[in-house]
Amino acid sequence: MIKNMADFQKVVRENEKIYFVYVDDVCEGTIDLLVQSGEGYKLKACVTSGTFMDCEIRGYEVKSIEHLEQDACVLLTCNTRQDEMVAQLEKKEIKKVEFLEENFKFFALKRLKNRRRGEDTEFLINKMRDQMLKFVPKPYMEYLVFNILDHCNLRCKGCDHFACVADEYIIPHERLHKDIVRMSEILHGDNVMKIAVMGGEPLLHPELLEILKDVRKHFPYAIIRLTTNGLLLLQQNEEFWKTCREYDITIVNTKYPIQLDYAKMKEVAKEQGVKFQYFEGTGDDTVKTSSKKTITLDGTNDPVKSFAQCYISNYGNFVMEGKFYGCPFSCQSYRIFNQKFGKNLRMTEKDYLDIYQVKDMQELFEFSAKPRPYCRYCSGIDRWHEWERSKKDISEWV
Ligand code: SF4
Ligand code: SF4
Repeated sequence: MIKNMADFQKVVRENEKIYFVYVDDVCEGTIDLLVQSGEGYKLKACVTSGTFMDCEIRGYEVKSIEHLEQDACVLLTCNTRQDEMVAQLEKKEIKKVEFLEENFKFFALKRLKNRRRGEDTEFLINKMRDQMLKFVPKPYMEYLVFNILDHCNLRCKGCDHFACVADEYIIPHERLHKDIVRMSEILHGDNVMKIAVMGGEPLLHPELLEILKDVRKHFPYAIIRLTTNGLLLLQQNEEFWKTCREYDITIVNTKYPIQLDYAKMKEVAKEQGVKFQYFEGTGDDTVKTSSKKTITLDGTNDPVKSFAQCYISNYGNFVMEGKFYGCPFSCQSYRIFNQKFGKNLRMTEKDYLDIYQVKDMQELFEFSAKPRPYCRYCSGIDRWHEWERSKKDISEWV
């Protein structure tokens, strides 16, 4: 019977191979003690019965009781089901079995609790640091969206750009051109890492290729992303692929749980020598779930808190018809959600910048790093749900 640390060390010293039997918090705490004593290499595996096996606990394998070697020393590290485990060990004719006294189990649990508290503290510190960094202007723009149209041919539930409930609205290239040139002037044709040309579904824009060429001309160094749901990608002509290739456009495709030949899209892009990637969070084996920010209709959220918690704040800037917004959500909920559902989320002059009045890029960076009054309508935090098509119901956002 192991009553204290001295007993524990004696057992560990006297045995070459150790197995812990039964996986629970006592087991994890006892592993910590073993590792702390420097004898962690002697632990061959944690053994359990039931379904929790062929995995790891603190880096040690969890195996079924069948794997026990008969000459090994077994520490019965269970808080529950001890009788059942003893019966199984007897059946396997395991001779060396050490029991843990209740006080020692308590000691192991305390050790575990202290470690977890330390990890929780570290997690919280990192989270707070990330939130504080939201309020620091960046030395460059990380992600800039040019909105080229509002509507979409897929219409996902709770779309953050409100494309699923938007009327057909296309911004002509002539209008976009002015904004592209102006943004390039402010940013000196540089100082932005990624530019997304999107909507809505950008492949529905009749002048898409002219827009892509224009963006590349005015931002020669940025990563330019054509962010598409892919529904129309395989119908594109040679001219489309040639433009993407020659103007170094990256096709960013979100993989939805619908019948589409995603493998073919990737293959065609490769054949055409065009950069192709899945949207962050989707990939070869991962299909999209959806996230959405909820709208508080009476605007009673704390805008600073929403801003601090928001993953897109001080990151995803948005340009729409001569105005620079801190995020797509504010601009599009104001324009589309209000109109579609007859609501009155109010936008003030503090919620955007007129790009034709902006003095320099620093003004954009500082604006991006500040909570706006409109953030009070927004939860800031994303809620996740399975992807499905929109029923165009207000409950998808409220
Ligand atoms: S495909 Fe994109 S833009 Fe279209 S509804 Fe879905 S999330 Fe919105
Ligand atoms: S309104 Fe504010 S909190 Fe909501 S998405 Fe935009 S920046 Fe984030």
